Amino acid sequence: DLPPIDGDFYQLDLKLSEEQRELQLKVRNFMEDEVRPLVNDHWNRAKFPFEIIEKFKKLNITGVPYEGYGCPNLPFLMEGIIAQEIARVDVSISTFFGVHSGLAMGSIYLCGSEEQKEEWLPKMQRLETIGAFGLTEPNVGSGAAGGLETTCRWDGEHWVLNGQKKWIGNATFADVIIIWARDEDSNQVKGFLVKKDNPGFKAEKMEDKMALRIVQNALITLNDCKVPESDRLQKAESFRDTAKVLKMTRAGVAWQAVGCARGAYESALKYTKKREQFGRPIASYQLIQNHLVEMIANLTSMQTLCFRLSELQDQGLLKDEHASLAKVYTSMRMRDVVSRAREVMGGNGILLEYDVARFVADAEAIYSYEGTKEINSLIVGRAITGYSAFVN
Ligand code: FAD
Repeated sequence: DLPPIDGDFYQLDLKLSEEQRELQLKVRNFMEDEVRPLVNDHWNRAKFPFEIIEKFKKLNITGVPYEGYGCPNLPFLMEGIIAQEIARVDVSISTFFGVHSGLAMGSIYLCGSEEQKEEWLPKMQRLETIGAFGLTEPNVGSGAAGGLETTCRWDGEHWVLNGQKKWIGNATFADVIIIWARDEDSNQVKGFLVKKDNPGFKAEKMEDKMALRIVQNALITLNDCKVPESDRLQKAESFRDTAKVLKMTRAGVAWQAVGCARGAYESALKYTKKREQFGRPIASYQLIQNHLVEMIANLTSMQTLCFRLSELQDQGLLKDEHASLAKVYTSMRMRDVVSRAREVMGGNGILLEYDVARFVADAEAIYSYEGTKEINSLIVGRAITGYSAFVN
């Protein structure tokens, strides 16, 4: 008998309690049974499978680490494990989920008033209301901390928002979009809960993406978009508060990278055991085994790092540089794993039906979003040297 296909080489799953392991398997089975059959076709057509939202509701895994408001209040480790399980099957679905549960709900959880949390979080937890997170702009990506061009202005009755946001996941159908804008008076960044039916809000689907094709990214235009003071995130005073959200979600993205690498590794390993050339399975050849060993070594180092990252988060010790280091390291290793997975599959490595091609493409989005390699490296570099090298 051949050994099982399993991307958990150091048995890190044994660190989970029985209930945690049960939840992990529940998510894995859901992803295998309900999501895997849909994803290649939807990815190909750049369509979002809306029917899975109903099914996701039953899993009760939204807002996992938050306390109150109907959220499960499980350790951050479980949020990471769940991100890994979802991304192991499809990175787009894990991005949809991360944007809603992490970026949008997290902004309200960390920066909202008690009333705002009561109003939004329970229905978002139940996935009755879907969220998006709008920070990036056509001219401002990495430099969002200092240079947002989208502005807000108090006209005596409302906040008036003007500008554009680019790449905003879920925003073509989300009910509420967190918009980050620079106050024309104080120059500080503020956050707003913008509802999709606001007359000054327009979201247009971005077409022709070569990664995460299932995710519905939008170009948002805010044209004198009026928002009441009650929909301004009351605890978002400056970009420092936005950064608190990003610190939390970057840890989730590191786990997503693990899931993406694991999915590709497991598909590739299975393939190499079945595929025969020169009369033997290609897995029996030394050069193929070298690729597989490099892949499992990368994957294992990513997983162990992320376990510790989540422990730091659960102990309240997580710093920006911890999350950034994990994001940089896992996204680099992920790229290596998916490209080796694609390589050992020969021509089939570029066919959608074998899954790995999708992971190769989607890895490129993980590599760039939630802070590029350079930006997260600069955050770590600043922490370890004491010098900020963001600008010359
Ligand atoms: P730029 O900032 O223009 O960077 C270009 C290059 O210059 C990069 O290599 C960068 O690292 C480098 N660079 C920039 N500054 C420096 C410097 N100081 N030193 C050295 N190198 C530097 N944003 C949202 O707000 N919400 C979303 O839901 C969302 N979803 C996304 C989904 C996808 C699929 C993608 C691709 C992006 C998404 N984004 C989202 C945007 C994402 O966060 C940005 O793409 C990212 O922050 C990089 O910004 P940019 O693309 O404008 O690149």
